[in-house]
Amino acid sequence: MTKNFVKNLPDADFERIVIVGGGFAGVRMAQKLSKSPYQVVLIDKNNYHQFQPLFYQVATSGLEPSAISFPIRKIFKNKKNLFFRMMEMEYVDTDNKIIETNKGLIAYDHLVLALGADTSYFGLQNVMNNAIPMKSVAEALLIRNKLIASFEEAYNQDDPEIRKALLNIVVVGGGPTGVELAGAIAEMKRYSLPDDYPTMDWEMMNIYLIEASPRLLNGMSDVSGEKAKAFLEKLGVKVYLNRAVSEYDGRYVTMGEYESIEASSMIWAAGITGNPVPGLSDSLINRANRITVDPYHRVPGLENVYVLGDLASMHEEVYPKGHPQVAQVAIQQADNLARNFKNLKNKKALRPFRYRDLGSMATIGRKLAVVDLPWWSFQGFFAWIVWLFVHLMAILGVKNKLFVFLNWAWSYLSFDASLRLLIRPVKPRKEAYRDWLLEETKKE
Ligand SMILES: Cc1cc2nc3c(=O)[nH]c(=O)nc-3n(C[C@H](O)[C@H](O)[C@H](O)COP(=O)(O)OP(=O)(O)OC[C@H]3O[C@@H](n4cnc5c(N)ncnc54)[C@H](O)[C@@H]3O)c2cc1C
Repeated sequence: MTKNFVKNLPDADFERIVIVGGGFAGVRMAQKLSKSPYQVVLIDKNNYHQFQPLFYQVATSGLEPSAISFPIRKIFKNKKNLFFRMMEMEYVDTDNKIIETNKGLIAYDHLVLALGADTSYFGLQNVMNNAIPMKSVAEALLIRNKLIASFEEAYNQDDPEIRKALLNIVVVGGGPTGVELAGAIAEMKRYSLPDDYPTMDWEMMNIYLIEASPRLLNGMSDVSGEKAKAFLEKLGVKVYLNRAVSEYDGRYVTMGEYESIEASSMIWAAGITGNPVPGLSDSLINRANRITVDPYHRVPGLENVYVLGDLASMHEEVYPKGHPQVAQVAIQQADNLARNFKNLKNKKALRPFRYRDLGSMATIGRKLAVVDLPWWSFQGFFAWIVWLFVHLMAILGVKNKLFVFLNWAWSYLSFDASLRLLIRPVKPRKEAYRDWLLEETKKE
């Protein structure tokens, strides 16, 4: 079946830049090119931007998914040269400068790939089948449901062994995601679960954080890694370092020669891999599925193809293995490429990318965080205040900022994450019109 070009996309009066991915890099790039002499078409498989740093709060009933998701169309409102299409890119034809999507073809003059990354299971098939990842707001909601369903089930169980396995939660990966998630679950155990299930013996519940390397928070300073471990242990988390999970069959977590753990829930936050871009030669893809780019974000050997954010692998002297896969890198790269597009039009020289490290941080729980600035590391209450402020400012949209702030203030004062709802999807209803439309599309 040959695909048609996507409908309702105006012919470009200006050169067309197609951006694939509405994450930190893609949205920022589009915003920066608003009112520029380019037609900008952003596509994403979802019609919202996701604020990944707060997924763990959705997973632990602290925030509603809508508080950390922002409609992309709203960002593009009244921006005459910006267009958004919800569709999934399936193939890149760099010879003809066309991308193929699940809704049709789009021609480009410049193509910006900002597809981000997905969970890597390092080839562990049964971990992939049985653990839950946290790389989308939908997966964070899945974790919330899974945890609450386990608590409800445990409450109805008489057998102490089964009850214990239902309550045990294993988080794999000692980076910021694993640390923040384990800390937040420990706080649920301490503050809100005993009120919800008053006759349950919560001492039975164990929260494990398992990390293969000798320390937590590998991208941060030694002192932050040690403090994070101490804070987690204070909250009752069992932190196991130097242990690599090799199997999870949905019941037992196996870690080489160490004793296995029986747990009904395992959350996998141990690694990421770049989202695939079919059509690009394998020689362009390197470590962890990232695409090699030069200091101007261009893919060597391809005309007008650029890569930003988690998917890009650019080598700066101080980052010989590529930049860290964090939001600041994505945002700063988008700023640089947008500036270079404007420079192209103004016949000015292009600027190579230089990453300015503004620091990194992670929160472990109520009044506990670790912050590394380029010139100073600090931990504890003040670090927590800084963490709250930085994350609040980074969320898109005034309404979302307000919702998140109110939620945080309420949780802080009441010691209660109030969204412990188990809302499961119902079986989809039969949709005659949708089915007919699908059949028609297949005929095209
Ligand atoms: C749980 C978690 C916590 C994190 N915490 C922090 C933190 O505290 N601080 C920090 O700096 N960084 C953090 N990060 C990392 C940060 O979120 C990423 O570095 C950042 O999102 C990368 O931006 P990006 O634009 O490259 O990709 P993303 O933001 O991942 O965006 C990629 C977009 O591409 C879309 N997409 C993918 N494939 C297709 C396709 N085929 N067709 C169409 N669209 C597609 C996706 O839907 C998505 O919207 C965290 C990440 C996670 C998962």
